[in-house]
Amino acid sequence: MCGLITEIQRFSLNDGPGIRTTIFLKGCNLHCAWCHNPETVREAKELMFYPANCIGCGHCVPVCRTGARSFAEGVLRFDRSLCVNCGACAEACFPGALEMAGRSVSVAEVMDEIVQDRAYYADSGGGVTLSGGEVFCQAEFASALIDACRELEIPVAAETNLNWHFETVRPILEKLDLIMFDVKLFDSSGHKLWTGLGNTVLLENARRLDELDIPLIARTPLIPGATDSVENIRKIAGFLADFRNLRCYELLNFNPLGESKYRALEMKNSFLSARPLKPEDLNRLREAAESAGNLKVQVG
Ligand code: SF4
Ligand code: SF4
Repeated sequence: MCGLITEIQRFSLNDGPGIRTTIFLKGCNLHCAWCHNPETVREAKELMFYPANCIGCGHCVPVCRTGARSFAEGVLRFDRSLCVNCGACAEACFPGALEMAGRSVSVAEVMDEIVQDRAYYADSGGGVTLSGGEVFCQAEFASALIDACRELEIPVAAETNLNWHFETVRPILEKLDLIMFDVKLFDSSGHKLWTGLGNTVLLENARRLDELDIPLIARTPLIPGATDSVENIRKIAGFLADFRNLRCYELLNFNPLGESKYRALEMKNSFLSARPLKPEDLNRLREAAESAGNLKVQVG
């Protein structure tokens, strides 16, 4: 069983409790305008080009069979429309100006990395987190990874956007030790505007998750001008207030770190000039969330 991933991140401290290894699966079925991992959105390998790292050695040109990389009048050119994402140029590029986002890996290969930090998981209350992208876009691979971890008694969490058919995914959900899900916008038309899809099914899935009696963490990314209104946070907190298995509601400050990735992929970045919220704005939103009562709120 193989899957397509972008990264295996060891010693991760932000993807659930304790020390974790986070596996980023490639492919997502929402299109959030602010995604800070844009290289995980498409369900295929793709070339990333970082011009600032290019030393002009030209090693990428002869290995490119489609002419996507070429020299014209002494200037190195890249025509992405000719690129078939074969990866040959990335292998030839030692300075790291060219990188492939996405590699096929087997469950055994991923487990070889996971087991190296087994002692840390046990000592810290950590484990493995499946992230993305959307984990359940590769449901079979995710399920096989979870099974392999469970065989070794390694706890597994998943981060999800909730965009799936509940009964199809349910057998996999039931094997998890922790589920972290996003509620980005409570208003369905706003959700459609910013992610490409209304949220009726997603909110229903969140409710049904709570029936599984698995610990849950809900999260809202705070995106300036999109999700960061007091009204949005208050409504989401009100929706979550009676969840029985919710351990925490996290408000995640805007993360501008995806900027260079957007450039490397030549993707439009709608939040190029956006910056993280100030402490006073974060406090205002925390108070709005706490006003729903009965919720442990964390701002990160
Ligand atoms: S191989 Fe890399 S560093 Fe050399 S010209 Fe090509 S992109 Fe630039
Ligand atoms: S990934 Fe392949 S087709 Fe695309 S530029 Fe590199 S060598 Fe050419």
